[in-house]
Amino acid sequence: SAQAAPESDHHNIIKDTEKATGAGDKHEFQAETRMLLDIVAKSLYSDKEVFVRELISNASDALEKLRYVRLQEGAEAEAGAEAGAGAGAGQRLDASALQRPLEVHLATDKQARTLTIQDTGVGMTREELVANLGTIARSGSKAFLEQLKDNEVNSDVSSIIGQFGVGFYSSFMVAEKVEVYTLSSREGSKGYKWTSDGSGTFEIQEADGVQPGTKIVIYLKPDCREFSDEETINNVIKKYSNFVGSPIFLNGKQV
Ligand code: ADP
Ligand code: MG
Repeated sequence: SAQAAPESDHHNIIKDTEKATGAGDKHEFQAETRMLLDIVAKSLYSDKEVFVRELISNASDALEKLRYVRLQEGAEAEAGAEAGAGAGAGQRLDASALQRPLEVHLATDKQARTLTIQDTGVGMTREELVANLGTIARSGSKAFLEQLKDNEVNSDVSSIIGQFGVGFYSSFMVAEKVEVYTLSSREGSKGYKWTSDGSGTFEIQEADGVQPGTKIVIYLKPDCREFSDEETINNVIKKYSNFVGSPIFLNGKQV
């Protein structure tokens, strides 16, 4: 295995701290989502690495959202000092959300055959988890389904996946199971664990030890184990991450 980097340039926030508590709450994916997942899971699309791009882009979006809300709250606090409390009726940020570094971390584990991606962004509430990871809101996925309807035979599904991208759901091209741990930056939020094997349902449980932001663990299919290889992921990150405005770390090393 790789040599440990000197302590000084090693920075990895990915740790095994989460513990689901209580009973799971089972949900069915919306019909359109089920259809999309079915196609994605069965697709022979060869350019599977795009799922990494989609997950990094979501992490980056979550960080930009937090950056934005912080600025807003800062401005409101300043205005509030003159105009009195309650100036903005919007969400209140948790104290930790005002300070923490905005980062994306990835970790590969060949032995466990997993790829993990974690961000310190806005995170999701239970309602946001259900709405965002249970339905298809994104325009790209909707256009994708429209194209499929028009195409009668699924002959060219691959080029359609490549053309439109299917966001978070693209992880089911390579995953036999996906776990999402998330803690919203809103004051008073609880941590949650979201799990699915992509076949019809997902489960949500409350969880302790969830770090602020979102952590996604991809349990790779046996024939997709290459994505638990550090060098492979390093190359994919380099290829797709020029648009990301926050630092990206892979196994504790900045890429
Ligand atoms: P899109 O990014 O186009 O909205 P995705 O399928 O990639 O579509 O993601 C769906 C939604 O799930 C996002 O819009 C966002 O609300 C939520 N989401 C996904 N990943 C994260 C994340 N890392 N942190 C917070 N929210 C996320
Ligand atoms: Mg996305």
